[in-house]
Amino acid sequence: MAADGRSAERELRASAEACEKCPQLVASRSQVVFGAGDGDADLMFVGEAPGAGEDREGVPFVGASGKLLGELLAGIGMTRDDVYIANVLKCRPPENRDPRSDEIANCSPFLIGQIRLVEPIVVVTLGNFATKLLRQDDAGITVIHGQAELRSLGGRTVRLYPVFHPAAALYRRPNLELLREDFSRLPQMLADGSPDQAAVESQREAEAVPARNVAEQTEGRGAAKPPGPKPDARPQLDLF
Ligand code: SF4
Repeated sequence: MAADGRSAERELRASAEACEKCPQLVASRSQVVFGAGDGDADLMFVGEAPGAGEDREGVPFVGASGKLLGELLAGIGMTRDDVYIANVLKCRPPENRDPRSDEIANCSPFLIGQIRLVEPIVVVTLGNFATKLLRQDDAGITVIHGQAELRSLGGRTVRLYPVFHPAAALYRRPNLELLREDFSRLPQMLADGSPDQAAVESQREAEAVPARNVAEQTEGRGAAKPPGPKPDARPQLDLF
């Protein structure tokens, strides 16, 4: 990341840390969990939202899910320091409830901003929330995990790669095997390098769509989804 990129990252982080757009989350969070890792990483992971451990430590993916993520990375010869990790929401939902559509819409500009600054080759979406948000499609993770596709995110074309959330893999052993299998394809995807950037213009519309009803159509980490509020119909936020 160039010096101006690092400055922009600091500004974006500061903006998130001062953010009070989601009153419930502001009331329940200990701190904003912005993201962690290499700001120049070719590989970026996007999870759902901070849990209790993340909220306490200020770092995404700690605890059992984080340990598994570390093991999966070790399996492909990488460490957390080699990648960038962020979540759809930067603040912990109370009682670890699922993110709401309005919260996802509020927070997605921070995520898009992170992708814009990191400029990854591959964006791995962990679980349904990140996958449905960044694909702007209702297809569930059980159907599309392990299938890479080109998407325009943060003003450039990336390889978007949905996989199960580590928490879902811890919950169901068969998911862990699928997750390991999906991870095993990452080295080749990275070796293939950055996709043709000419595709950005034709895909720009996908990036401009707000969070829609991701939360209402998302099953979370395998649990049934309670009904949520109507999707936020505002256009994509003003930050970017
Ligand atoms: S979740 Fe995101 S948009 Fe909502 S208060 Fe936290 S930082 Fe702001």
